[in-house]
Amino acid sequence: MDTTYAIRLIPRQIEPPLDVNWLAEWFGVELEIRPLPKKVAGVYLRTDTGAHIILNSSDSPERQRWTTAHELAHHIFCIGRQSPNDAFKIKTDSDDSAEDLCDRFAAEILMPASLVRKKAAEVKHGRFDKTALLANMFEVSIIAMRIRLRDLGIS
Ligand SMILES: [Zn+2]
Repeated sequence: MDTTYAIRLIPRQIEPPLDVNWLAEWFGVELEIRPLPKKVAGVYLRTDTGAHIILNSSDSPERQRWTTAHELAHHIFCIGRQSPNDAFKIKTDSDDSAEDLCDRFAAEILMPASLVRKKAAEVKHGRFDKTALLANMFEVSIIAMRIRLRDLGIS
């Protein structure tokens, strides 16, 4: 399944920010916030009781949203490939292309291209930085929004 197809499965978003917690629930994934090692933003695992995403309690809400979207991609793209007996299968960050795909998915669902373009055109340049305003609107980090704007060719 590619990103475009996966995104078509998601109910169309009219206004930012995306309710990522609701989306996780929609996909049947339970979210948990727990202390995790500093370098671990999140963990996706499937157990006999279902699919879980564990978020690092030390991370900012924006970072947790990104992690949820990223781990959700692991859930969506890997669904059906794991046997039900494959309990506690933890996705590691060893496969770079899978990681890229999950990051692209996260960017596309948290900052849908058409919505970012629309809001970027509406935002008035004033005292505030456009990237910061959009980041705040979409509830993502400024860095994530800066990369997204660059990728979309919006400056
Ligand atoms: Zn990952």
